[in-house]
Amino acid sequence: PVPVVAVVGRPNVGKSTLVNRIIGRRQAVVEDVPGVTRDRVPYDAQWNGRRFTVVDTGGWEPDARDRAAAIAAQAEIAVQTADVVVFVVDVTVGATDVDEAAVKMLRRSHKPVILVANKADNQNLEMEAVSLWSLGLGEPHTISALHGRGSGDLLDDILSAL
Ligand code: GDP
Ligand code: MG
Repeated sequence: PVPVVAVVGRPNVGKSTLVNRIIGRRQAVVEDVPGVTRDRVPYDAQWNGRRFTVVDTGGWEPDARDRAAAIAAQAEIAVQTADVVVFVVDVTVGATDVDEAAVKMLRRSHKPVILVANKADNQNLEMEAVSLWSLGLGEPHTISALHGRGSGDLLDDILSAL
């Protein structure tokens, strides 16, 4: 079977932009409005000749209600059914309470988690990522999904974790 990589995190951190970067096409819907991706959306991906499925999810939020709760539930199912989880944080914002809550959910899943510090568009923002060690998920992988910075190294590490 083809291994599955789930991309999760708060709304608007750049999950869909990262998914597009990974699949090399603009297929996942990127929006300035949070919460566009409702479900788990799988895409075929390939890196260094290895095939895998990357799953885009809507934003995960704790104690969400109604539609947001349904979206969060889908993200949790994506985590449960993944071989590796890519957890995306916005480095321009830093770790929020919602990020901390997501980490607890991820720990309960016992899945391997790769921490991504997205929106590290320049060297100054890259340095901000050190604060994300506090999440306890190991080294933050600094990337700019928008500009492609760091995405090759991230893909290498995702494949190593599969
Ligand atoms: P999602 O809700 O987590 O899927 O986030 P999206 O991929 O839809 O992106 C939300 C917003 O963040 C959009 O305006 C993106 O263009 C922007 N964005 C995503 N990645 C980056 C990045 O690496 N740098 C910057 N500056 N903006 C980004
Ligand atoms: Mg999205």
